[in-house]
Amino acid sequence: MNIILLGPPGAGKGTQASRLVAGRFMVQLSTGDMLRAAVKAATPVGLQAKAIMARGELVSDAIVSALIGERLDQGVGAGAIFDGFPRTAAQAEALEVLLAARGQALDHVIELTVDEAVLTERIVGRYTCANCGEGYHDRFKQPLVAGVCDVCGSTEFKRRPDDTAATIATRMAVYRGETAPILPFYETRGLVRRVDGMADIEQVTAAIEVILDG
Ligand code: AMP
Repeated sequence: MNIILLGPPGAGKGTQASRLVAGRFMVQLSTGDMLRAAVKAATPVGLQAKAIMARGELVSDAIVSALIGERLDQGVGAGAIFDGFPRTAAQAEALEVLLAARGQALDHVIELTVDEAVLTERIVGRYTCANCGEGYHDRFKQPLVAGVCDVCGSTEFKRRPDDTAATIATRMAVYRGETAPILPFYETRGLVRRVDGMADIEQVTAAIEVILDG
């Protein structure tokens, strides 16, 4: 079972991918996470990607497709959840080739539909536990004890450097101009399913589970 979660920044792709991983022995393949790890480790890819990411623009198709290929070669258990990839037509074509070469195919492309007006608020307020990665939000989900992670007890939290009002406009424009146009490619093959990304986190997960079990 290989699925793509598609939607604009802040739609909840990462949140939903990690919830599905926990229950299904699937693997989350987030090019954003891979690139952030590369930036942190100051690898050649990270050094190239850092400024591009800070501006909210796209890293090259060749770089992200290579990251996905390398990750697929490590095995993906019961299947892959692509989160933040593909983002361009060239990446969608690269993914076809990468999967076919491994005797695999896509089962579903799940589009999380959201009201763009709320996305900026969702993104600007979000932060994660620096230790375990649990997600929080200034308005929507504070830790039960202020300053202490509910899951692991850490008191260190972090925010993404590109989660600022200034870069969000660019990231939205990139989504509209480069990523949303790949939907018809999957629609003609009957792969696209839509889920209301404005619903509660649990409800969104439940709607995706129905698709995966259908
Ligand atoms: P994300 O965590 O998915 O929001 O990605 C954060 C940033 O990483 C994006 O704004 C891009 O700069 C870069 N990035 C992540 N995935 C891709 C991709 N598939 N293609 C190009 N750039 C990407």
